[in-house]
Amino acid sequence: MLLGMDISIALKNFNGSYDVKKFSLFETSKISERFPSLKLKTVNKGINIEVKCPVCDNFHYYRYSFNELIKGEVIVGGCEILGIPLFYIGNYDKVKQRVDRCNNVNRSLYAMM
Ligand SMILES: [Zn+2]
Repeated sequence: MLLGMDISIALKNFNGSYDVKKFSLFETSKISERFPSLKLKTVNKGINIEVKCPVCDNFHYYRYSFNELIKGEVIVGGCEILGIPLFYIGNYDKVKQRVDRCNNVNRSLYAMM
């Protein structure tokens, strides 16, 4: 029995801010419904992630083990080409904290423009 398989993912959208969703590692197909640019597949003891990058327009691929995911640290997946974070995965509160910071920065940048 695996416990604590509910994790959160925050994905950068085309406006440059992040959308946060909670999901279960047992229902990875649901996450693709909510994030059409993200494909998440459960594989042997881990997950594969494919992201259509909103920054450089390429596909990026990632692989994480369940151990990494449930350890409690926030995992950051970035655009390999531009070195910009694209998504955060992990505990909801921690993920939310990270993206709130980014979203606030974006909002104040837009306010200045
Ligand atoms: Zn990219």
